[in-house]
Amino acid sequence: MEDKPVDRVASLEAAWAPQLDSAEALQRKLQEQRMLAEQLGLLGSAVRVSGEGIAILTPAVEAMGPRIAFVNDGFCTMYGVEREEVIGQTPVIFRMIEKHQAIFDALLDHVFEERPFDAEATARRKNGSEFELDLQLIPVKENGNLTHWVAFLRDVTEAKQQIVLLRHQAMHDSLTDLPNRSLLYDRLDQSIDTARTQSSLVALLLMDLDRFKEVNDTFGHHFGDVLLKQVALRVKNQLRLVDMVARLGGDEFAILVNDPVDSQFVASTARRILNSLQQPFVVEGQVLEVGASIGIAMYPTHGTDGRSLMRLADVAMYAAKQAQAGYKFHSDEYESRSPEELGLVVELRRAIELNEFELYYQPKLHLKSGLMTRAEVLIRWNHPKRGLLAPAAFIPIAERTGIIRELTDWVFDHALEQCRAWHDEGAPVHLAINISAKSLLEQSLPTKVHTLLEKWRVDPRFIKIEITESSIMADPAHALAIMSMLQSMGVRLSVDDFGTGYSSLSHLRQLPVDEIKIDKSFVMGMTTSEADAAIVRTVIDLAHNLGKQVCAEGVEDEATWLRLRDLGCDLAQGYWISRPMRGADLMKWLTESSWGLARVSGVKRSSQ
Ligand code: C2E
Ligand code: MG
Ligand code: MG
Repeated sequence: MEDKPVDRVASLEAAWAPQLDSAEALQRKLQEQRMLAEQLGLLGSAVRVSGEGIAILTPAVEAMGPRIAFVNDGFCTMYGVEREEVIGQTPVIFRMIEKHQAIFDALLDHVFEERPFDAEATARRKNGSEFELDLQLIPVKENGNLTHWVAFLRDVTEAKQQIVLLRHQAMHDSLTDLPNRSLLYDRLDQSIDTARTQSSLVALLLMDLDRFKEVNDTFGHHFGDVLLKQVALRVKNQLRLVDMVARLGGDEFAILVNDPVDSQFVASTARRILNSLQQPFVVEGQVLEVGASIGIAMYPTHGTDGRSLMRLADVAMYAAKQAQAGYKFHSDEYESRSPEELGLVVELRRAIELNEFELYYQPKLHLKSGLMTRAEVLIRWNHPKRGLLAPAAFIPIAERTGIIRELTDWVFDHALEQCRAWHDEGAPVHLAINISAKSLLEQSLPTKVHTLLEKWRVDPRFIKIEITESSIMADPAHALAIMSMLQSMGVRLSVDDFGTGYSSLSHLRQLPVDEIKIDKSFVMGMTTSEADAAIVRTVIDLAHNLGKQVCAEGVEDEATWLRLRDLGCDLAQGYWISRPMRGADLMKWLTESSWGLARVSGVKRSSQ
């Protein structure tokens, strides 16, 4: 039976009564004692029922340390024990697991030295299950002498798991559960630090899947996600435990190879990864083939800090992609490109995601009627620092690095979207879209164009594709094959910048094009140079003989316009008519400008 504080007060009352002369003083004293007892009682039950574990221990009286004098309900629940089993035991009853023996030893040290103790350790319940214990042991002294210890025990398993989970989430990619970019940078820096002290090597591989975008576009994002998970697994299986693969976003992965013996070892790792990806993937019964390109930069051969390794591996990856070489080490040859260009490569890759490209439209006019027959689509890059960039500033780089493929896709997608919008507004605009030499060599170009025409429900007859003479001449047989496929889809074709390449007449005859665009260098010179004028005249006659239309680009003044009309040229385009403009402005131009209104005379109104 417990000796309740209230009972004690009753016996005190009896004992003190005769000794106190004043009844009033007695009353006061009793009142104080009662309140104290009540508070103690409350405190006692609070301690007993507290969710936290509380234990009271005697001072250490022997080598095994203090003994448990009291434990509350919280303690019993936490350990799954009965109070009786615990009373009289040593702190061994806190049941820290063996690997935390050192913590337990420290606890005993503190106990013997009568100092407070605070620790976190894994503890074991009576039934053997484990939990994370937060233990605080506080000595209670009276007049400088230790009277007992109070131990506060908390089960922090959930809180700890939560922290571990949050930490994991911050450092990992949610789709594949691979380390993310920030964890990669951490590890890369660590690896470089270690390599610096041990004079060893580190390799960083950047990998980009080759046909991922197609998979995503064709089968949907869900498919893409499943595929990425499988890719992650395959890559991981090719690595040693000391290496690491991270997902940087999209279809981009980075592989950190620690302490490779030499570059041969790194090359074989890259080959193994590529081989593993060459086996077809099966996603929901669909067989998919996905290749990859890997760029490699090494410490200390190519760079001495994480950031530069990333940049150099990125450039090497594009070189690999462009050369369809599978993998490539960074080479000084890439460094000979200006730093400005290297910077642009990296920015160019992000520009699509960041939506920095914009399409401009320049009217192509029928010379006789002055009517707009179609608008040429011309890409611009709204560069965050350099302002509006013309294609000459980035198309060649996009071509060299392979980015052009994605860019061409983007241009078609957005041009056709705009075309659809205009058609919906009741303006049946025809568009001329440029493609570069690299895109022309892409086998899948016709399929892609077809898919996008369907996507935007645009009749192929509304689209003309402009291909420069020099890109046709780069590989005439291949160009002819792709152009024939495009033509059979109903898309119109045009030879751009005619006169700058070296196509022979017979070639021109073979090509399935219905328009020839005379390069602006001749057109701009034709009113001052007889030679240029002669070339323009010859091209017009030649094209007409072959049954093709002629468009003159670079019409900068009225004299040129009139001369072209006299020569029987069919179409004209140039600053004198209009500069390339935004989509919204083209509609305004069509309804408000003198050209847009000049439907009959064929002569610009303002010049009449
Ligand atoms: P292009 O296809 O020959 O386009 C005509 C170029 O001449 C355009 O330059 C246009 O702005 C410019 N121009 C038009 N009228 C005049 C004029 O009266 N005087 C002068 N001096 N120039 C005029 P831009 O927009 O800088 O494009 C340059 C080239 O970049 C284009 O030449 C085309 O080959 C390429 N390009 C443009 N957009 C794309 C695209 O979306 N994809 C690809 N692959 N290439 C593109
Ligand atoms: Mg063009
Ligand atoms: Mg041109």
